[in-house]
Amino acid sequence: MGEPKKDELYKFCKDIFGERGKTDDGTTKQAPTYAVGLIHGQMGVYVVKQGGPINDDTAKKVVNAWKEKEWDGNLKDIWSVIDARNLATSQLRKNEWTSFHAEALVVSAMLSANNITTAEQLKAGIKDLGGALICSNCPACYHCAKMLDGLGIGYGETDGKKSLTGWWNPFTDKAYPQASKEFKDDVPGGL
Ligand SMILES: [Zn+2]
Repeated sequence: MGEPKKDELYKFCKDIFGERGKTDDGTTKQAPTYAVGLIHGQMGVYVVKQGGPINDDTAKKVVNAWKEKEWDGNLKDIWSVIDARNLATSQLRKNEWTSFHAEALVVSAMLSANNITTAEQLKAGIKDLGGALICSNCPACYHCAKMLDGLGIGYGETDGKKSLTGWWNPFTDKAYPQASKEFKDDVPGGL
C-alpha cells in the first residue's frame, strides 16, 4: 500500500525489465535501459525505454506488476502509463539520442507534463508535493545521479561511472561529448 519507496521501485525495474548487463538466455547482449519515474501525489507513472517507444505489452506489464504490489496513488490503469519519450522535448536530431539517458528523458517529460522549464521550478514543485523518484534497471551514471541529487529526486543507486559517449542535459537541451570541458563537471551545463 501507499506509493513505492526508492528501493522498492529500483527492484521493481530490475525485476520487470531485467538487470542491464544480465540476460535470461546467457548471451552477453545487454538488456536495454528502462526507467520508471513518478512525482508523489501526482497521477501518472513515467516509463521510458532508452532507444525506443514503450509498446502495449510493456505498458501492460508495468500496470499488472504495479497492481500486484498493491501500490496506489500514481497508477490506476494503462492510461496512467506515460511514455516519457513522447513528452521529452529536444531540438536535437535523433542520431544524438545515444547520449539521452533514460533518467534525463523522464526529467524532461516531468517538465513538459507540468508546464515548467527550469530546474528551480521542478525542484520546488517536487518539494511541495513530497518528493519524486526515478529508478532504472541499472545503476545511474555519475552525471544522472548528480542531476537527480540536485533536483531532490530519489533513485536506486549510482555506480559513479560516466557515459562513454556523452551526456544530454534536459534543461539546456545540449549533449556534452565525453571530450568536452563541461563533461568534467558534476552536471554538464548545470542545473
Ligand atoms: Zn545517466
